[in-house]
Amino acid sequence: MYIKSLELENFRNYSGLNIEFDKNTNVIYGNNAQGKTNIIEAIYISGTSKSHKTSKDYELIKFENKEAHIRTKVFSRDNEYQIDLHLKKNMKKGIAINKHPIKKASELFNILNFVLFSPEDLNIIKDGPSQRRRFLDILLCQLDKIYLEELQKYNKILNNRNKLLKDIYFNKNLIDTIPIWDKQLVNCGNNIIKKRRNIIEKLNDVCKDIHKKLTGNAEYFFLQYENDVDEKDFLTLLNKNFEKDSKYKMTSAGPHRDDILFVSNGIDIRKFGSQGQQRTTALTLKLAEIEIIKERLGESPILLLDDVLSELDSKRQRYLLEYIYGIQTIITCTGIDDFVSNRFHIDRLFKVNNGIVTTE
Ligand code: ATP
Ligand code: MG
Repeated sequence: MYIKSLELENFRNYSGLNIEFDKNTNVIYGNNAQGKTNIIEAIYISGTSKSHKTSKDYELIKFENKEAHIRTKVFSRDNEYQIDLHLKKNMKKGIAINKHPIKKASELFNILNFVLFSPEDLNIIKDGPSQRRRFLDILLCQLDKIYLEELQKYNKILNNRNKLLKDIYFNKNLIDTIPIWDKQLVNCGNNIIKKRRNIIEKLNDVCKDIHKKLTGNAEYFFLQYENDVDEKDFLTLLNKNFEKDSKYKMTSAGPHRDDILFVSNGIDIRKFGSQGQQRTTALTLKLAEIEIIKERLGESPILLLDDVLSELDSKRQRYLLEYIYGIQTIITCTGIDDFVSNRFHIDRLFKVNNGIVTTE
């Protein structure tokens, strides 16, 4: 799969942009604050309907404008698709595929799949568990059409239960409604637990191989699902925790607390890994993400590398660039020195300067 072209109108710092990408390695370079990440963000929105940087659509519209457009042409599953997004200031965005408006954003997952690797992802191992859950959820959304709905449903039920725990404090009679919410939470939560368990098992298999190659077989590595509740005893645990949950007015157990454990040579590298080990693991995870999507869809996802190459040493840069051979990649960076000195191949080079892109 690959993106053929991207057109922007009043999006972030772009008044107008129309670029054609190469099927292989594209490099977009320019100084800070010129619009590199804005291009990555536009692609991200085309594939998910949402930005990875903001939940507020109006921030995406160029200052002093009322609406913005993102138009992407994608070649995937032997067909060409046009994805149109129309962002409006105080209204819901319009999304169309091949000019037909769509209601469910998840339809975009059937067309455009990508893996984004940005400097924040380098911290995925050392940051809190929410970042790792986010990683799992984004991956599962791309692989499983109903996962997003299940997750949204779970979060809604969880919020309602937490609200109820607060309300019970003022109205003791409400306690009778708790079992209704618990039943729903367990039904929905168990689907999520099952899917996360499966994908982590898969990730473990794929990551082990990649990690071995990245470290030259130096470290014994594995990852594991870390959850405080199993499908079969979720309800029992909710009952057991009820007193504690009422006290703190919060549901203390469930997939909303899940985590992934990463072990290298017997050490939990979330806590005790060196920066290099944590980065290698982050890179391993991202490459595994590509591999799993590729295997499941029969096509490689697009790789977006936002400002991340310069954060890796040349050995890992080389491994990454060799690994992605044949996959459409869009790389942003402030300069191309690394490419020149390491003789990394570039198929199309773009320079961005204050919202204007030129092809070199
Ligand atoms: P860096 O190398 O620092 O990551 P970048 O090239 O990735 O820089 P972007 O994040 O793409 O930079 O941002 C480019 C510019 O877009 C910034 O100067 C920012 O202020 C501007 N910008 C962000 N949102 C809007 C908006 N809604 N309207 C106009 N300009 C905006
Ligand atoms: Mg940037």
